[in-house]
Amino acid sequence: MERTILVSTPWPLYSRPSIQLGALKAYLEAPFPELKVHALHIYLQVAESIGYELYRAISERTWLAESVYAVLLFPERAKEIEKVFYREARGKPNLRKVDFKTLTSQVRDVSNCLINGVDWEGCTLAGFSICLCQLTSSLYFIRRIKKKFPNLAIVVGGSMFVGDSTRNLFKVFPEIDFVVNGEGELPLSRLVRHLKDHQSHNEIPPIPGVVTRNAARDSASVSFCQMETLTSLPHPDYDDYFRVLKTFAPEKTFFPTVPAEISRGCWWRVPSGAGKHSGCAFCNLNLQWDGYRSKGVSQVVSEVDHLTTRYKTLSVAFMDNLLPVKESEEIFARLGKLNKDFRFFAEMRGSTPRHVLEAMQVAGMHEVQIGIEALSTRLLKKLNKGTSTIQNLEIMKHCEELGIANVSNLILNFPGSDHQDVEETLRNLEFALPFRPLRFVHFWLGLGSPVCRTPEAFGLTAVFNHPNYAAIFPPDIFRSMRFMIQAYRGDLGYQRKLWQPVKKKVTAWKKVYAELHKGPSHTPILSFRDGRDFLIIRQKRPNAESLTHRLVGTSRAIYLYCQRHRSMKSVLAHFPGVAEDRITPFLRMMVDKKLMFEENGKYLSLAVPVRQMNR
Ligand code: SF4
Repeated sequence: MERTILVSTPWPLYSRPSIQLGALKAYLEAPFPELKVHALHIYLQVAESIGYELYRAISERTWLAESVYAVLLFPERAKEIEKVFYREARGKPNLRKVDFKTLTSQVRDVSNCLINGVDWEGCTLAGFSICLCQLTSSLYFIRRIKKKFPNLAIVVGGSMFVGDSTRNLFKVFPEIDFVVNGEGELPLSRLVRHLKDHQSHNEIPPIPGVVTRNAARDSASVSFCQMETLTSLPHPDYDDYFRVLKTFAPEKTFFPTVPAEISRGCWWRVPSGAGKHSGCAFCNLNLQWDGYRSKGVSQVVSEVDHLTTRYKTLSVAFMDNLLPVKESEEIFARLGKLNKDFRFFAEMRGSTPRHVLEAMQVAGMHEVQIGIEALSTRLLKKLNKGTSTIQNLEIMKHCEELGIANVSNLILNFPGSDHQDVEETLRNLEFALPFRPLRFVHFWLGLGSPVCRTPEAFGLTAVFNHPNYAAIFPPDIFRSMRFMIQAYRGDLGYQRKLWQPVKKKVTAWKKVYAELHKGPSHTPILSFRDGRDFLIIRQKRPNAESLTHRLVGTSRAIYLYCQRHRSMKSVLAHFPGVAEDRITPFLRMMVDKKLMFEENGKYLSLAVPVRQMNR
């Protein structure tokens, strides 16, 4: 039986098998029954060896992750690399006592042991899936393996290497033979077919999506090849991950989350006219895909059913960057009918309608990451997010009501954001306080993002590799490559100062939210109970008695009508018997009391019904 090895090195989340490996393994084995594909989840074994807590702490920070294997790759740069590690580890309780030298020698020992434990001889190829945080670890494994097995064809792919950034890779890492540019299924299966039939990998015919050393020398643009639809994708195969997990001691085993995918790409990122950018300004996800494709409803339902049955786990993370608009409701309605107590995670846009969220909740949506990013509509425009603050607050409220944990971000320091954006954010944060706090994240410049492609449009005067790469890599490599994380000259100093008050307010928000949710009954901060022709709103406050407000008759009806955001025009049309000069002061009073939010003549009630929470 012929063998191909697919590898994923540290530092992805250890508690999930790799969807890249799982999807490719299943896809490659289908047309080649005589081929055995081994998916090596090296990161799982490294995590088990150094301890899950330590692994998690390192994997959460790119520079911590990249510095560990960097020192094994370039021991002559140990001093500089060690500095990066300790600087990034500062303030992290789990890393306080970590000695970098001890850690790296432990990682080296387990890595070498893993390399020695695999029979690489006679494999068709070894393919490395390289995403964020996996650059130095993959290069370390590639170097060691190629040294021992110089005839083994080494292929790399993944979100780290896309487009022209792949060209110099062959020069600086001659151990690499091929790069798959973009989606892996078609190019890799054609490469496997060729290598199986021809043994030698020195001369291969052009394969769309596969970059060879020779092709990289040509000035022609790097080719790309993806499947037209996702309908022919078999269910991902995670057997190898679970097989390894089974070998661990009982105290080291756990119930993993299985990754699934409904779609690839981003429908918000559509091709646009020359010079214009599409998609969110900061985003460099999806560079490996062209357009947006999603699986059919039945295909998704059967995949989730299959994975959870086969691996006896109920936690599923959808790896999509965003879910399909049309199909989502039906997908989750059908998943709900499987009668399994799922625990789902998914990422979605702030414009996801309430009825879709409801279907998700019924199916078992436990946690979501929503593209909130800002609570200033002015800033959301600069981010090209296509949403507004009122939409963001609305979906945050729905999550609160439906009991879905919303773990979304607020981007600080975005280039070109100004004092008005910050003022607007501070004002709007007052209205967000009843909902689960957002996490602030500092803007970072991703290679290939619209900001990176048109820096001048965002006030940047220069864009270059992040200086941490200069500490990690020798100068010739640093100069030859364009890395995923970029740095820039612009207004960063100004931005840091500008966003300080927002940082403080978000920190205080977290504290108050936790404080107000203490105690046995997890009641919402702002809630109402309906008495049919009146309603009572309860507004919890820190270090003070709760406030209560009673709304009667039409006031109640208007408050309920604005459970979704409504324009003034629509409120007036819905209540034709009530004059505008009666409605306006009522709405204004509600906004003053922070019971409703107003933006550009649109109104949103903020309290969540207690009855829904108790259901
Ligand atoms: S952040 Fe999400 S919605 Fe925005 S471009 Fe990226 S993937 Fe698309």
